[in-house]
Amino acid sequence: MYFYCSKCKKNYPINTRSYKCECGGLFKLFKDPSEILHNSVSLGEVETPLLKMKINKLNLFLKLEQFHATGSFKDRGAFMMINQLKNVGIREIVEDSSGNAGAAMAAYAAAAGIKASIYVPESTSPGKIKQIKAYGAAITKVDGARDKTAAAVLEAVTKAYYASHVYNPLFFEGTKSLAYEIYHQLHEQVPNYIFVPVGNGTMLLGLYYGFEEIGRLPKLIAVQSDHCKPLYQKIHNLPEHQITPTIAQGIAVGQPQRMDEILLAIKNSQGDVITVEDESILYAQDILARQGMYVEMTSAVAVAGALQFFENGKPDNYQVIVPLTGRGMQ
Ligand SMILES: [Zn+2]
Repeated sequence: MYFYCSKCKKNYPINTRSYKCECGGLFKLFKDPSEILHNSVSLGEVETPLLKMKINKLNLFLKLEQFHATGSFKDRGAFMMINQLKNVGIREIVEDSSGNAGAAMAAYAAAAGIKASIYVPESTSPGKIKQIKAYGAAITKVDGARDKTAAAVLEAVTKAYYASHVYNPLFFEGTKSLAYEIYHQLHEQVPNYIFVPVGNGTMLLGLYYGFEEIGRLPKLIAVQSDHCKPLYQKIHNLPEHQITPTIAQGIAVGQPQRMDEILLAIKNSQGDVITVEDESILYAQDILARQGMYVEMTSAVAVAGALQFFENGKPDNYQVIVPLTGRGMQ
């Protein structure tokens, strides 16, 4: 198993201190399918439930990703990355996150006995900061937008390994398991649509790579906030837009590093990018909670997107999956 550059194909070992190729290309992971990974670090990973639910008139399958140990799907990536980093002897990591990825990395690092330092935007919710600190990770708050946090962490990377959930392909190797679980839970069927909140695209790309391995792709519908919609602008050939604050913090990413990869995944799946207003997100969060499902606003984005997309109804035989990315308790 090793990293290779998506542009010039140069190889790098997993424990490289570079986070991307010297030519500027992003890393991809090469893994021999016969290679069995040794995963000694565990927080009790589970197959998350796939629950049928009717929201307004729309029949959906909700994939309850809030059932993971730290409360979000980011545990899939953290589980994979921390285990492999431990196997190659990494003792100290830094990561930047708007919350959930930081919590997942901090928790798995704690379980692995790896020292973690997490950079978060100033606007990160106090509950998430408290959670990350509780795992024993050091916190550095960075002023300004999410992208500034990423820039700050790069300046700080010296002796620690940059365990980025955006740059490091081990993270996507982990989120891929979501595709296999959905396929398995639908009795070896690929659903018609999956709605995904997209900022850096960690879930969407994991789903894409997973279903690509399975051999058939569902239509991947990326849902962005109307206040921060770089993918929407790009795919519809619109000019760059002024980013304004949104309640969907987890996807407020102005310049996704893997923009091209995300757009290719959406095109290859015959999917689309749609946007939702804050009011629709609040509505979706509320209507879910009134049916017993309390999730964070970034999770509600995908539900808002599905309700909007199928506003005029959907064919009964369409299987629509909406992963609820993270729980609401913070
Ligand atoms: Zn390269």
